[in-house]
Amino acid sequence: MKVVSTISDLNKELKRIFLYPRGMVPTMGALHKGHMSLVEKASLQCPVIIVSIYVNPTQFNDREDLKNYPRTPDEDLELLGLHLRHNDIVFIPGDDEIYPPAWQKRVFSFGDIETVMEGLHRPGHFNGVAQVVSRLFEIVEPDIAYFGLKDFQQVAIIRSMAEQMKLKVRIEACPIIREPDGLAMSSRNRLLEPAVREKAPVIYRTLSEAADLIKQKSLPEVKDFIITSIEKEKEFSVEYFELADEKTLIPVNSKKEMKKGHSYFGCIAVRAGKIRLIDNILFPAVK
Ligand code: AMP
Repeated sequence: MKVVSTISDLNKELKRIFLYPRGMVPTMGALHKGHMSLVEKASLQCPVIIVSIYVNPTQFNDREDLKNYPRTPDEDLELLGLHLRHNDIVFIPGDDEIYPPAWQKRVFSFGDIETVMEGLHRPGHFNGVAQVVSRLFEIVEPDIAYFGLKDFQQVAIIRSMAEQMKLKVRIEACPIIREPDGLAMSSRNRLLEPAVREKAPVIYRTLSEAADLIKQKSLPEVKDFIITSIEKEKEFSVEYFELADEKTLIPVNSKKEMKKGHSYFGCIAVRAGKIRLIDNILFPAVK
């Protein structure tokens, strides 16, 4: 693999390689097996892939979160070295490459998708995400880009951004990779205090039980169950739980609102000690 930090070095490599389809995996580093699952899928489908590592300041609505976000450059390169091939590229740009003074900042409008769940609770977050991903797409010009369903709503935002900009890139959504105890892998998991980390599987366990419970109980009852079960652990509090339509992302308030032929995901954000975690699970169709 080649490691580059400037657009000009990246372009030199891309010109030299000239292989298609070109795959891209955008990340913020502190890499784990979730990221690697995207890299694996990209490697199967593309003769060359570009993995970017850039902690994008514009998508953080909380300064402390940005300051504390884990940065593990040496371990990241070591892990990527085990997965990437000779022609693959790791792109680690600085702020000046991504946001040069002359670059025209784009403002996107995503309608309903950005006014619910993460969009509602992290104002400005999705515009920051769309800004950096659109800029990375402009630099790398990928044919296929890989994103994790761990960030369920983000996938819809990226698809909408690509459509608004009339980009030809295909967006591939990849399944959530979990720790053996069920906790969805996340760079932020390493910030959990040990006692909180030990209890964190309660999130996925509760989501799985809720997906079963919805067959007999009403949605408000299921929501109560989720909040009560998770908040039994004293360091945990549920920021939101919503049952959202896979396509529109609009949450439903009752089982009656669930449409035939549509899929619904239970999406949750939880404060676990000082760290905010998100997860989601497919709910069964309700008859
Ligand atoms: P991040 O570095 O957190 O911005 O994540 C980079 C990409 O990896 C995003 O598309 C995430 O959705 C994806 N990702 C992060 N964690 C996981 C996971 N546990 N399973 C699958 N994909 C993941």
